[in-house]
Amino acid sequence: MLNAMLALFVVGLVLGLLLAVAGEIFAVKVDERLEKLMEMLPGYNCGSCGYPGCSGMAEALINKDTDTLNCRPCKPDKRQEIVEYINSTPGPDGETITIKSI
Ligand code: SF4
Repeated sequence: MLNAMLALFVVGLVLGLLLAVAGEIFAVKVDERLEKLMEMLPGYNCGSCGYPGCSGMAEALINKDTDTLNCRPCKPDKRQEIVEYINSTPGPDGETITIKSI
């Protein structure tokens, strides 16, 4: 009985260590700018920017599919704040993106 418990403990420990190592090796870097952009955009999900909601606009900017913040419901000062944030904040690769506002 004690041997079985010890064997299960060792197997659990080895598998746990393997999972921890795999988690480090295969970790995906998340671009934190995306979450921040979602907080800054109005969240109306109106689609007038040409993307399916604010998340689509945010992803297009981060993925360099567009270089223009085309959010008409966004107030001008907020648009400028978003542009300055994106232009000055590097992504996970250490590079910044240059965008402009409508
Ligand atoms: S226009 Fe602005 S508020 Fe409307 S979906 Fe696009 S980003 Fe969101």
